[in-house]
Amino acid sequence: MDEFPEFPRTVLETLRQPIETGEVMVARANAHVKYPCRFMLVAAANPCKCGYLTDPARACSRAPVCGEDYLGRISGPLMDRFDLRIEVPPVGFTDLDLPPSGDSSATVAARVEQARAIQAARFCDTPATRQNADVEGSVLEEIAAPDAEGKELLLKAAERFGLSARAFHRILRVARTIADLEGAPDVRRPHVAEALSFRISARVAS
Ligand SMILES: [Zn+2]
Repeated sequence: MDEFPEFPRTVLETLRQPIETGEVMVARANAHVKYPCRFMLVAAANPCKCGYLTDPARACSRAPVCGEDYLGRISGPLMDRFDLRIEVPPVGFTDLDLPPSGDSSATVAARVEQARAIQAARFCDTPATRQNADVEGSVLEEIAAPDAEGKELLLKAAERFGLSARAFHRILRVARTIADLEGAPDVRRPHVAEALSFRISARVAS
């Protein structure tokens, strides 16, 4: 969903339930029908209404209110459901000339495939569960239990940033997945730290 804050608030809020349960309920006068609805939500937004808030080359004339108003259209509970939040700086013309940096898509795809294979093996006895994203409660605590340092970091962050229980569990799932992408059997502090960094960024923390 591009320009996410531009969608009417009522539309955005209806996403909360299906994100959480993987099902959507359509209610009409005589019937309620439930449909399967598992999806990955990718949303993008400008940092503020005019779009210049974080651009060092141009100035937003209404900073910082412009950004607060704009991103404030996304409610806290909805924002809480985004596991990976990334701030993307503006691209200058000189950047366009540079060769692409980082891994190629093919390299990343191979890594993702490997991580999914690890998860398929992990959940081979439970057909309803396919990925780390599907687990909760005691199973999540078992498969994603971080080492002592990781746990300490997560507890400190939870207190400092007032993380919700939902956020706490979502960070564990992301940390487990980061460890899988590395092929690491255990969740350690760096995995927790990386998972936290995706959630607690400067502008879009909730
Ligand atoms: Zn602005």
